[in-house]
Amino acid sequence: MGLLFLFCFRASYAEYEAERERLVREAIIAEGIKDEAVIRSMRTVPREKFVPPRLEKDAYLNRPLPIGYGQTISQPYIVALMTQLLEVDEEDTVLEIGTGSGYQAAVLAEIVKTVYTVEIIRPLQKSAAERLSSLGYSNIKTYAGDGYFGLEEQSPFDAIIVTAASDHVPPPLVRQLKNGGRMCIPVGQPYFPQVLKLLVKDEKGGVTIHDILPVVFVPLTREKDRRKE
Ligand code: SAH
Repeated sequence: MGLLFLFCFRASYAEYEAERERLVREAIIAEGIKDEAVIRSMRTVPREKFVPPRLEKDAYLNRPLPIGYGQTISQPYIVALMTQLLEVDEEDTVLEIGTGSGYQAAVLAEIVKTVYTVEIIRPLQKSAAERLSSLGYSNIKTYAGDGYFGLEEQSPFDAIIVTAASDHVPPPLVRQLKNGGRMCIPVGQPYFPQVLKLLVKDEKGGVTIHDILPVVFVPLTREKDRRKE
């Protein structure tokens, strides 16, 4: 019985590895992601561990999937693209707004020194924290709260990634970005195609914003909206 169980477990693990490799080849590399560190990270992080058990079998579709509380884990290609746009390395400290499942944080944590991540829905923050610690990601610090205000006490950051859409770039996040830093954020109205924007702060603190591509993200909610629920 024990042996059989072990065999089944190993077989399904190998199956997920094969599916992950296929996804990386077909939806990440073939779609133009070139950063070797990003590709390596996408090959490493087990997305099946970040989705609800009933959706495990869909973990390697190049799609967003529901994670409860009306929220989603982002599409793998978009995770890879946003990570590549940040141009981060092993010396960097990154702030993520919108922890969700913790998957994007894990993809970053494979590359950078430290990831700080903020989630407004407390049960999601709690389950992501548990998941990330059980997977051994000791360089990710999770916080519950409204990420609109960033994390003043840990700032400034080399890069900031926002994984929920806002109708404007939150000024506190721009302030908390280092000179020479990069921020990736979807900007637009809730539930309409938004524009993924890359904000680059130069060495003197000047900001330029580039439009990357249309995307659909869940909205960046505010504590005041949530109190009305
Ligand atoms: N990065 C996530 C995807 C998250 S979906 C992943 O890899 O799974 C967007 C998340 O942003 C949701 O979990 C939502 O609750 C959260 N969110 C929305 N508004 C927020 C805010 N003001 N502060 C922090 N998190 C927020």
